Amino acid sequence: MAIVLGFNAPNSKHFCPWCLCTKENIGNKHKVCVIEKTMDQIKLKPPPGHVKSPLLQMIPLSHYVPDELHIMLRIWDRLWDLVLQELKTQNQFNDLTRAKILAEMRRISISFNFWQEQGTQNWSYTSLMGGDKEKVLKNFNFRVVFAEERAFLINQLWRNFYELYNNMKSQKINPSHFADQAKQWLDLFLTPFQGKPNTITFKMGLYRPKDVTPYMHVLVHHLPEFMEQHQKFGLSAFSCAPVKKKNHDQVSAFFRKTMKDGGKGIERKSAIFEILHYENRSLYFAQKGTIDKYSKPQHIHVKKLKK
Ligand SMILES: [Zn+2]
Repeated sequence: MAIVLGFNAPNSKHFCPWCLCTKENIGNKHKVCVIEKTMDQIKLKPPPGHVKSPLLQMIPLSHYVPDELHIMLRIWDRLWDLVLQELKTQNQFNDLTRAKILAEMRRISISFNFWQEQGTQNWSYTSLMGGDKEKVLKNFNFRVVFAEERAFLINQLWRNFYELYNNMKSQKINPSHFADQAKQWLDLFLTPFQGKPNTITFKMGLYRPKDVTPYMHVLVHHLPEFMEQHQKFGLSAFSCAPVKKKNHDQVSAFFRKTMKDGGKGIERKSAIFEILHYENRSLYFAQKGTIDKYSKPQHIHVKKLKK
């Protein structure tokens, strides 16, 4: 979307395609942001952050709808990263903790792994698909790695986000109710510490304003407005999920194929060309009903002859 709008990277000072909020203000929970830019403005007098002219100028900015899948996936990544960061800061990210995380993932039927890249100290981990991320949001119990009170707070943050995600996709939800709920979730995310540091009165908070990401900003400030505008379809009508699935299918079809013939030397075409070629042929087969004309090839098992 940033490319289509000629917009700079989402981690820059002006990170939001819809409003003029800046990075310094992203974690300010008293600030209220609304969709304030318009396509005319971007065309004629681009606000800061719009580095190129937009590609699709005929589409009004309010029709660029953020999609709920990416909001969930990216916020999930941030929440998970914050958990691991906390364990690392406390020097708790050790074999024992990793084993506990793996066991908890197994309990909720997710295949997950940690590994170290050769020659580095950094731990990588399985990047989960959307469905597994949902399961973690709903079921992962952080009590396995945190003390009771802390785990309670973090579990609450994850469960409430899961509920928000479901409401995002629902057509029945009232946008102003959703706005309140999203705001409360951000407040929970930003729970400040209480009491005096290093005394018995001290109670740790959750995260800092600078931990807030552009996707969280969109969730809290703009999504309710989009829901209001597009309620008759529901936001899921604009979802990228089917496109993502398609992308996944094409990429896996491509790699399945190339794995088999191992590249064809100078005859090799670019990956994107092959994918489109494959797509074209599948469409042709589907339209002409070729599949029904020929029976499926039978699998033949050839046993190695024993000498
Ligand atoms: Zn904004």
